[in-house]
Order: sequence, then structure tokens, then C-alpha cells
Amino acid sequence: MSIVVQKYGGSSVADVKKLRQVAERVMRTRALGHDVVVVVSAMGDTTDELLSLAKQVSANPDRRELDMLLTTGERISMALLSIAIRDLGGDAISFTGSQSGIITNDRHVDARIIEVRPVRVQDELARGKIVVIAGYQGVSYRREVTTLGRGGSDTTAVAMAAALGAEYCEICSDVDGVYTADPRVVPDARRIDDLSYEETQELAEAGAKVLNAQAVEFAKEAGIAIYARATAAPLPGADPSSDGTVVRKHAARVPGTVVGVASERDVLMFHAEIDGAAQLDALLPFLDEHHVTGKQLHISDGRMAFVASRENLHEEGRMREAFRGRFGEQVRIVDTLAAVSIVGAGINASFQNVRRGSGALAAVGIAVDGIATSSFRITWMIDGGRVEEAVRVLHRTFIEPPAVPSLQSPSPQVP
Ligand code: ADP
Ligand code: ASP
Ligand code: MG
Repeated sequence: MSIVVQKYGGSSVADVKKLRQVAERVMRTRALGHDVVVVVSAMGDTTDELLSLAKQVSANPDRRELDMLLTTGERISMALLSIAIRDLGGDAISFTGSQSGIITNDRHVDARIIEVRPVRVQDELARGKIVVIAGYQGVSYRREVTTLGRGGSDTTAVAMAAALGAEYCEICSDVDGVYTADPRVVPDARRIDDLSYEETQELAEAGAKVLNAQAVEFAKEAGIAIYARATAAPLPGADPSSDGTVVRKHAARVPGTVVGVASERDVLMFHAEIDGAAQLDALLPFLDEHHVTGKQLHISDGRMAFVASRENLHEEGRMREAFRGRFGEQVRIVDTLAAVSIVGAGINASFQNVRRGSGALAAVGIAVDGIATSSFRITWMIDGGRVEEAVRVLHRTFIEPPAVPSLQSPSPQVP
């Protein structure tokens, strides 16, 4: 029998009614003859609420204790979903990350999966059970409970799918696939039928929340297809890209095509003069020690510029104090910027796209504080207050077909 892994996000299990609907969808999948493994996120905004509770107790909550706290969210959902499936006559059993064999490194709050030993899951599947797994969590080789970073239930699902040799992994959410931009921000965003692993990974790293970047990494390594779909959608048919997005290895599209626009507001920008106390061999270990995880690092001519994600940084106050104490004015931390990116293979074959994007942002008065490029991405650092507007401008510039002339956006001023 083929194994199917389904992951249901927080909004899909936000209340009891929704949990029941998920249980019914799982039962329909089972009825088709598949072995079913379900990975669940915490209900609704539970993870945010638990984090806020911790922050009320301490401005700099300890990371190990945060993991003990945050893993409870997914544990609630796994048990409730298993109860709901059993109530419908299904034979379900729930497992924590640790019980299902998700082994991680020994980092807390943003641990990485190093191995999956799904023996218990396989045993229960062999007994005909539907296995429900708490997403976003694992156990370190030191037997400590860990979490995988925000959005980490996607990673659990894909890593489990890879370890079980699943036919595919469905990521079910409130949105019916990956769009050319966040549909909440850009009403004209379009669903993308087919994406390569690389395109999806870049979109996720640039801030598109719908799929977690590390999850895509696992899918790519194992060659597992990811179906990003709406929980409310029917089960995937013969052509799963007709009502969702399929992420898989496939023939490249025309090189230089921009596939999507993504943004990230929760970033910190570090500027450092690499001199005196702030030598690189002091600075980089200090960043690691304070759990600052990098997005982009640029070092040149005695200066370092570095963009860090704030998503899994829960002791920012303590970190900033430590940097002030150790490096003084040599390290400047800016927290008012956001990153807006366009993604696509080969989009930097010339400087044309950088110029078009910069021109379009300038045309609406959005100042650009920095630009970074890779072979798949162009990122503009801009004022955090104008990020949604910038996403719409870039989407209009690179993705939307020209509308009727009177509705066209102003032509970008190409520098
Ligand atoms: P879940 O709780 O199911 O994991 P998430 O909130 O993590 O869901 O991700 C789904 C959300 O991602 C959507 O509601 C949407 O607003 C947002 N999103 C951001 N970028 C994109 C994109 N490019 N395509 C689709 N959704 C996106
Ligand atoms: N509950 C976790 C979060 O909110 C993990 C997830 O939803 O994927 O980040
Ligand atoms: Mg998510």
C-alpha cells in the first residue's frame, strides 16, 4: 500500500469543528486504500500565545524551557485529532516528535533534524493504524525535547515522508497553494501550478510563509513531491496541479522568469566595522553564541553587513545588550528595515531586473537601503513600514501582465 503524509496547519485545526473536518478528510484518504500519516500544527495561534506567555514571565526566556513549553501546542492537536478520527470509526494513534523518531541536533528553538527513525510509525502502519504526529518537534541525541523553528511542522511532514518513502506529502493550509505573492497582500496574485524545489526554497527563505524552507530541502534531497493545497480542497486527483501547487523536480521554465515576490519584515540588519575588538574571529562566534541566524552576510573593505531573521530569536534584548557591551559603536543594529525579494532562476543574467525593480520602487518614493543578489534572487532592503506597498509594486512590475494602458503603473525610472 502506498504511504501518504498529510500536514494540517494551525488554521486548519483552529477549533473543534475544523478538527472534525480534518478527521473526515483523513478518513476519506484512508478509504482510498492509502496508509496515512498525519502531521498536525498547534491549534490556531497557540504557538504565538505560548510565546507571549513566556515573554510575560521573562523578557529573555530560556530556550530549553521555551521548547518544553512550545511543544505542548502540537501535543494538544495530535491527541484531539486522534480522538476525532477514532470517533469517526478510524483506528488512530498519536505520537510526539520524539516517539515518532525525529532526532535533531542539540539546538533549542531552531533545531535541525539530523535523522528520522520511524520504527514505531512503521509498526503502527503495519497494524493498519492511522498515525498522527505532533509537528514542529523532535528529540536531540542528548534526549532533550527540541523544536524546529517557526513553521517547522512542514519540516516534520516532509522529513517523515522522506523516511517512509511516501508517495507524496500534502501540505494542507488555509491557502490553496503557493502564489506569486502573499494573496493577503496582493489581491491579483496567481496560484503557481508547478514549482521547482529551488524556486520554492528561495521563495520560502525570502519570507513566503506557505512552505517552510527546510522542508523543501528535505523534499529535494529525497525527491519527494510536495502538494501544497487547501484543507478544504478535495483529495489530489490525477493532476494535483489543477487545484494546488506541486513542488517537484521538473523541466526548467524560460530562464530569467520571475516566479514570485516575497517579503520579510522580521529582520535585523547588522553593520560592523571589522577592526579592533570587532575582528571577524570575535564577531562571528558572538553571533552564534547569541543565536543570531544569518540570512545574508557580506564582508568587504573592512566592513560587515549582515541580515538576520528575528523569527526564532527570543532573547533579543539580552543579545543587543551583549553586543553593546562587547563591541560598543563598532556594531550597529538596525531594526526598522524589511527585505523584499523577487525570485526566479537566472533573473540576474544582466542587471536589467535590479534596475527595473529599483526604478519601480523609486517611482513610488520607496527608498532602498541596500540590495543583495544571488543567481535566484534579488532582495531590496527598505523601510519596514512600506513593505506591503513594495510587494505590490514589484508584483505589478514583474508578474502582472500589462493591464489596459490607462490602468498601467507608472513606467519605472531606469537609472
Ligand atoms: P499553516 O498554519 O497552514 O502552516 P501559514 O500561516 O504558515 O499556514 O502559511 C499560510 C499563509 O502563508 C497564507 O495564509 C498566506 O497569507 C501566507 N503566504 C505568504 N506568502 C504566500 C505565497 N507566496 N503563497 C501563498 N500563501 C502565502
Ligand atoms: N506551531 C508552530 C508555529 O506556529 C509550527 C507550525 O505551525 O508549523 O510556528
Ligand atoms: Mg506554516
